[in-house]
Amino acid sequence: MADQNTFGIAGLLGWPVAHSRSPVIHNHWLAHYGIPGRYVLFPVPPEKLEAAVRGIAALGLRGCNVTTPHKQAIFPLLDRVDDLARKIGAVNTVVVEKDGTLTGFNNDGNGFIQSLRDADPQWRPDSGPIVVLGAGGAAWAVVASLAAQGAKEIRVVNRTLDKAKEIADAVGPVVKVVPWDQREDALDGVAMLANATSLGMTGKPPLEISLDCLPKNALVGDLIYIPPETPLLASARMRGNVTVNGLGLLLNQARPAFNAWFGVMPEITPALRQAIAATF
Ligand code: NAP
Repeated sequence: MADQNTFGIAGLLGWPVAHSRSPVIHNHWLAHYGIPGRYVLFPVPPEKLEAAVRGIAALGLRGCNVTTPHKQAIFPLLDRVDDLARKIGAVNTVVVEKDGTLTGFNNDGNGFIQSLRDADPQWRPDSGPIVVLGAGGAAWAVVASLAAQGAKEIRVVNRTLDKAKEIADAVGPVVKVVPWDQREDALDGVAMLANATSLGMTGKPPLEISLDCLPKNALVGDLIYIPPETPLLASARMRGNVTVNGLGLLLNQARPAFNAWFGVMPEITPALRQAIAATF
């Protein structure tokens, strides 16, 4: 277990990082659990990534999160990368082990799945077919994690079909590739629909999709959390679907990282949600 008696530091490596809500989350938990420590931002340009990663253990950090553009570039700089992060092809969390070596993980997909289960405890990844819209970095994490948790059929729908095919090749035959213009037909009979495109985010084009083929009991998740309710989630909610926004992913991916760095599996409380909401 991580040492809770000495001042612990963790942070976020990225370029840029100023927009991140992770300091709010981790510093809220440090204060709540009375753990001496601080979560800080490390703006690291690509050409300084290697030097920064070499310094993680030397500086006595507990570990760090990793964001754009370093999620792939950090692989060769780590001592080991866990199987799921390897399958996803990206690391979002680094943990400094007792011997000073560095292990990379990716908690994004599992964080999203946990947020769906929090909203609908009956739903499981193997409850029925799943549609994931998008084939970027976030979709990779979601699809690989759903497959690792037992999903039987994941229909990956993307504008650039080759990117969906790359996910199918890496994750396996549970992934079915669907062209973007067939996204509405793909909703037939699904137990869960996830939007992992950037469409519908504040400042981005809208996501154009009719939900007529979507079963009323399907769970609908959007990885976006700005706005808190995307037009997709609003129309799904109005027709009776249970909906989940991307804040749950953000909060749930942070829990195992905090546990690994500071030795406590933290809870997502209304006070934490309020602290995050205050940043919007
Ligand atoms: P990304 O790698 O840039 O992927 C963007 C995806 O959106 C691609 O599949 C892209 O399709 C699709 N797309 C963009 N414009 C489109 C258009 N006009 N028509 C159809 N498809 C379009 O981004 P990412 O990192 O995966 O992130 C995706 C979303 O997840 C973002 O909204 C991001 O904010 C969100 N996210 C949330 C969290 C969280 O903590 N809640 C974490 C990570 C990501 P092409 O492949 O055809 O370009």
